[in-house]
Amino acid sequence: MATHTAPVPAAAARCFDFDVIVLGAGIMGSCTAHAAVSRGARVLLLERLDLLHGLGSSHGESRTIRDAYPDARYPPMVRLASRLWADAEAESGRRVLTPTPLLLMGPRSNTSVIAAARNAGTEEVDVAARWGGAFRLPDGWVAAVSEHGSGVLHATGAVKMFQDLAVHKGAVVRDNAEVVEIRKGPEGGVAVRTSTGEEFHGAKCVVTVGAWTRRLIKSAAGVELPIQPLHTLVLYWRIKPGREGELTAEAGFPTFSSYCDPLYVYSTPSLERPGMIKINYHGGPPCDPDDRDLVSGGGDVVERVARWIDEFMPGHVETAGGPVDQLPCMYSMTPDEDFVIDFLGGEFGQDVVVGAGFSGHGFKMGPAVGMILAEMALDGEARTAAEAGVELGHFRINRFEGNPMGNAKDQ
Ligand SMILES: Cc1cc2nc3c(=O)[nH]c(=O)nc-3n(C[C@H](O)[C@H](O)[C@H](O)COP(=O)(O)OP(=O)(O)OC[C@H]3O[C@@H](n4cnc5c(N)ncnc54)[C@H](O)[C@@H]3O)c2cc1C
Repeated sequence: MATHTAPVPAAAARCFDFDVIVLGAGIMGSCTAHAAVSRGARVLLLERLDLLHGLGSSHGESRTIRDAYPDARYPPMVRLASRLWADAEAESGRRVLTPTPLLLMGPRSNTSVIAAARNAGTEEVDVAARWGGAFRLPDGWVAAVSEHGSGVLHATGAVKMFQDLAVHKGAVVRDNAEVVEIRKGPEGGVAVRTSTGEEFHGAKCVVTVGAWTRRLIKSAAGVELPIQPLHTLVLYWRIKPGREGELTAEAGFPTFSSYCDPLYVYSTPSLERPGMIKINYHGGPPCDPDDRDLVSGGGDVVERVARWIDEFMPGHVETAGGPVDQLPCMYSMTPDEDFVIDFLGGEFGQDVVVGAGFSGHGFKMGPAVGMILAEMALDGEARTAAEAGVELGHFRINRFEGNPMGNAKDQ
């Protein structure tokens, strides 16, 4: 499978300052900038806040990568991303991915866990024998393990890796540059204006502004994208004394997902913070990305995760007194939890590409999404993804027309 290295099309006329202007330097924007500049494009990456800030969705120490998805349309994108993660690690000489086993568990009657286990080619596992009694599963639950393609990504380290690679290849990166206007350029292309009045002209623009997407797209194009920011918390829990070594990535402890309707709980093994383990829930209350309660704001979910731990990992993780640390983060939810990857259309036609609505599961696919967005901007189509068997049809904006829920979830 080849990654396209064709030069930037001549249509990206030299009357523009840049071939591609990327808005937002989270994982998606940073990967897009890297993919575009790797093609020889002149790239500008604009970030509203400081680079690597902690107020969006891509900061922190860990994200899970796994190709276990109930929806079979995602694993090809994860596999493309895995290849691109490895390429970027090799190119930068850095390591941001720690491989771990992946454990899926849930009631046998839960169709999502069964489908995810099947799509990832997992095998049923005796959790007690494998992980020394760390888990206590109720009767009727299934546990399945995958040894391939899963692990923990160092989130901020990964964003920095892609930014550094992009800069090294000539991308211009500007922080504290909030884009407040996107409009058609006087000679075609796209003009963007920042809050300080600076203007930049690009042949193409890629919008990857995370939880701020709905607002920016509405003001630029009058299009209402159903992307709802959610406030969520990264929860770190103390491992019980004497058990610390057992729950580490080094000891082979897995990342895991528990399909425990309505609370989907996931975890990464003890790695970045010795003596602690991250155990989280998927979701959170709706929020305004510029006005949220950063300290708490998670509703009663901390208590619900604590109850999950007490039921499923009682001998290994301490819940008395609550989590030892909790960090704010945001999801950008679509109604169907599928991404939005599309041309904006309307007066912008194919000049503006949107990558948003990653619904709490996009990080692992960042390099693939960046490649897709860069190819859409430069070539009008995402050939590398198509060759990798990635279907983009279900990420289109028009799926919400006359159908507020978007894609049906019946497969
Ligand atoms: C707690 C938590 C756990 C998660 N766990 C996982 C996981 O295990 N695996 C996984 O795959 N995914 C996971 N995710 C999801 C993943 O982190 C996100 O899907 C991903 O980080 C989204 O990246 P982004 O670049 O779209 O958004 P962001 O990282 O938010 O980047 C958008 C950037 O745009 C900037 N911006 C906004 N407005 C403007 C403007 N007007 N002008 C210029 N810049 C602007 C913002 O400041 C921000 O830096 C998790 C998310 C959270 C919150």
